[in-house]
Amino acid sequence: MTGSGPDEYRAQARQWLETNASPLGDGDAAHGGESEIERSKRFQHALWSAGYAGITWPKEYGGQGLTTEELAAFNQVAGDFVLPSVPLSVGMGMVGPTMLELGTREQKSRYILPLLRGDEVWCQMFSEPDAGSDVAGLRTRAVRTGAGWILNGRKVWTSNAQWADFGVILARTDADAPKHRGITMFILDMRRAGVTIRPLVVATGDAPFNEVVLDDVLVPHDAVLGRVNRGWDAAVAMLRHERVSIGTRVQKRSNALSFDNLARIARDRGATSDAVVRRRLAEAYVRESAVLAYGRVLQAEANAGVEVGPRGSAAKLAGAELRLWQALTAQEILGPDVALGDREFDAVALGIVAAPGVATAGGTNEIQRNIIAERILGLPKDGGIADKNLPFNQIRTSR
Ligand SMILES: Cc1cc2nc3c(=O)[nH]c(=O)nc-3n(C[C@H](O)[C@H](O)[C@H](O)COP(=O)(O)OP(=O)(O)OC[C@H]3O[C@@H](n4cnc5c(N)ncnc54)[C@H](O)[C@@H]3O)c2cc1C
Repeated sequence: MTGSGPDEYRAQARQWLETNASPLGDGDAAHGGESEIERSKRFQHALWSAGYAGITWPKEYGGQGLTTEELAAFNQVAGDFVLPSVPLSVGMGMVGPTMLELGTREQKSRYILPLLRGDEVWCQMFSEPDAGSDVAGLRTRAVRTGAGWILNGRKVWTSNAQWADFGVILARTDADAPKHRGITMFILDMRRAGVTIRPLVVATGDAPFNEVVLDDVLVPHDAVLGRVNRGWDAAVAMLRHERVSIGTRVQKRSNALSFDNLARIARDRGATSDAVVRRRLAEAYVRESAVLAYGRVLQAEANAGVEVGPRGSAAKLAGAELRLWQALTAQEILGPDVALGDREFDAVALGIVAAPGVATAGGTNEIQRNIIAERILGLPKDGGIADKNLPFNQIRTSR
């Protein structure tokens, strides 16, 4: 801890957040015409300038070089505020930690500081039309030439690609190697010739995802992140950071569906006398408290450099199930009013529509269960699904 001691650090962080962020439960404040990405970048810049971005990241790359105690203190205080950082979460929660782990000195010097300052936005291009849960089934190819690598293929579900300056992308670099051994991870400048980004519109009318088409895209040799043909190891490292990031963040982001908000709405509508609502709320409270507590433990371990491994999957699964439970509780309390009633409930409605996505993003609940079964409980290995075209309720896992 710095010379000023933990209480003072926490008090200073709280004071800064009170001036620069909205407290939880305040709803969505007006943003004066600023777009979501502009607001996130501005906030991230302010966070970095105040010394609260990259708290434990090395000073030489623009981090604060402080200890996990400061980070834990900041995270604890930040839990009481809504930080507009979602569009930058791929960079901060996944790319940054992976690059610090696997990147070259040159890559860290080039990319970490602009990421921390909110100057450059990142996206993640793993999923493809026929490679979602089975990431290693990807077909995007990269062929080595004198000038670098030529990439061809198609990625889907790429969150934030519309804003991204850079992305990390997985491509097959050795078609003859075993499935997990012929993949390489690259850094892709999203403005390179041959990159086409097409928005995918979802039920809310927004387009948070994109399809990214790569047509003879040339990337330089030094764009390889990690080692050639060892991209699977880099992908596993990044997915590990993603699951801890999603699993420990899920609660803070689900403000409209949080227990406090749902309990307030239930009280306002006189719904707390309904036995079903009371039972749902009670369970929402228990689940939320458990997820928060587990998230805090894992975050503290991750911050301290302890390998949380497959327990990140447990956190992600619990967070996703909490979201679905909260969505169910909100529907029970509001009934048709959630869609037909006052605009007051717009944020709740959006939370309900988005809840199933949390059970899919970063690996589906079934995939997290497989990881927990195999790597925590030691059960036999999953053989994959026999026929991906079957409706989900008819899918059988083969052994
Ligand atoms: C909100 C959101 C954001 C996302 N952002 C990104 C992003 O930025 N970058 C990116 O690369 N991807 C992103 N994704 C994609 C996400 O990672 C994939 O959707 C996910 O991995 C599932 O892949 P799929 O959609 O192809 O489903 P499939 O893999 O086709 O799965 C279909 C169904 O089969 C089940 N299933 C599959 N295999 C098994 C098995 N072995 N055992 C049991 N059941 C199985 C799945 O659980 C699922 O229910 C995002 C997704 C969402 C919802």
